[in-house]
Amino acid sequence: MQIQYINEMLDLPELTISQILFISSDELHLEALPVDYKQACPCCKSDQAVIRKGYNDMRKIRHLAVFEKKTYLCVPSIRMYCVNCELGFGWVYDFVGPKQRYSHLFRSRVVAQALGSTAVHSARMQQAPISTVQDMHNQAVPVLCQQLTEQAWEEAQQTPDLVLGIDDFAIKKGHTYNTGIHNLKGETMLDLLPGRKLFDLRAYTHEYPLFRMLKPKAVVMDLAQAYHTWIRECFPAAIRIADRFHVHGYVIDSVQEVRKTVQQTLSPRAKAHLKANHRLLNPPAEALDAENRKRLEVLLGYSSLLRETWEWKEAFTVWYDCSPDFAVAKLGFERWCEQGQTIDHAAVHVTLKTMRNWQEEIVNYHQCRWTNATVEGRHNRIKAYQRRHYFTRNYGRYKAGILVECNRHRMLA
Ligand SMILES: [Zn+2]
Repeated sequence: MQIQYINEMLDLPELTISQILFISSDELHLEALPVDYKQACPCCKSDQAVIRKGYNDMRKIRHLAVFEKKTYLCVPSIRMYCVNCELGFGWVYDFVGPKQRYSHLFRSRVVAQALGSTAVHSARMQQAPISTVQDMHNQAVPVLCQQLTEQAWEEAQQTPDLVLGIDDFAIKKGHTYNTGIHNLKGETMLDLLPGRKLFDLRAYTHEYPLFRMLKPKAVVMDLAQAYHTWIRECFPAAIRIADRFHVHGYVIDSVQEVRKTVQQTLSPRAKAHLKANHRLLNPPAEALDAENRKRLEVLLGYSSLLRETWEWKEAFTVWYDCSPDFAVAKLGFERWCEQGQTIDHAAVHVTLKTMRNWQEEIVNYHQCRWTNATVEGRHNRIKAYQRRHYFTRNYGRYKAGILVECNRHRMLA
C-alpha cells in the first residue's frame, strides 16, 4: 500500500503518514507525524523561543475508514517549551480535540449518519460503541441546532415578503401539541413551542422578542382562533391566510357527512357499495382515472343530494384554482356560499357557517397563494423522528432534535 496515496486520501494537511504500524483484514494503524517542527507558544504566540522536549506516549486516534478498515492514527504527544515564557506545553492537533480519541471528521461522520437514522445504526456502520456514538450525537445536536437555527432566522429576517406558516403537531398521539413556526419560502422550521393555546403563544412571544421583529407579508394558518389572534397581535399588517388544505378539509368532511346520511336510505347493496368506495368522493374529479370516474358516477347516481354536495365541493376547488384575482375571488366565494345554502343538509350549513366566519382569511389566499403543504410534509419527518428516537423528557433536547431534523437539509449549504 502506497503511503503517499494514503496521505492524500486522509486529506489532513497538518500530518504526514510516516509508516504503517499494523494492517489486518479489518484494521489499519498508521503512524503520523506533524508536518511542522514546532508550534507557537500559547503565551507569547510566537515559536521563536520554542524548543522541542521530546515525546510523551503516542496518542491513538480513531479516524475515518481507509479501504473500509477501522483506521487509527497514532500521533506523538510532543512536548515543547518556550524559553522566553518558561512555559511547557503540548502539541495541539487540528484534526482532533484535546484528550479526544476520535477525530473531528470521524465524529461528524458518525453524527451525520445518526441524524439520518439512529445512533445504533451509525454505531454498527462505523464499528464504534453505541454509547460513544450516542454521546457524540448528544453533544453535536445542540451545536448543530444553534448553527442551523441562526442561519434560518437570519435568512427569515432578510427575506423580502416573508411568508410564515404556523401549524400544530402532536407530540404523543393526540395528547400534547407543539406549535411549529415555519418560513414557507425558505422551507425552514424557525422554531417550535409547547402548546397551541393563546396563553402558550403569548408566553413564547414574551420569551423570544426576536419573533416580533420579523416582518412577514403573510402568515398561513389553520382555522384556530388562537393563532389568528396571536398573529394579529404580533403582526397587525400581515395578511392572515387560512390554509387551503385545512379549509378544504371542512368541505370534504361535510361531503362525507352527507354520504353517511344518504347511505341510510339506500338498499343494502347500494349502501355497501357507497360505503366501500366513499373515498372516491374526496379528490377532485380530474385527479381520478377513467375507471374510478366511472365508479364515482355510480355513487353520485344514488342520490341527487349527494351529487349536489359533491358538485359544491368541486366548485370550491375550481374557485381556489381558477379565481384570477382577489376581487373576483371575493365575488366567487359569495356565489359558492350561496350554492351551498341551497343544499338541504345540516352538515353543509355548519361548514358554511365556519366558511363565512373565516371568509376574509379564506379569500386572502388569492392575495398571496401560499399553503402549509410543505409544513405537512415536515410533520411526517417529525413523526418519523419521534418514532426513531424514544421520547425524551428533556424538552430542550427534544426541540433541538426536531429543529435539526427539519433543517438539516441546510447543512450542505
Ligand atoms: Zn512564549
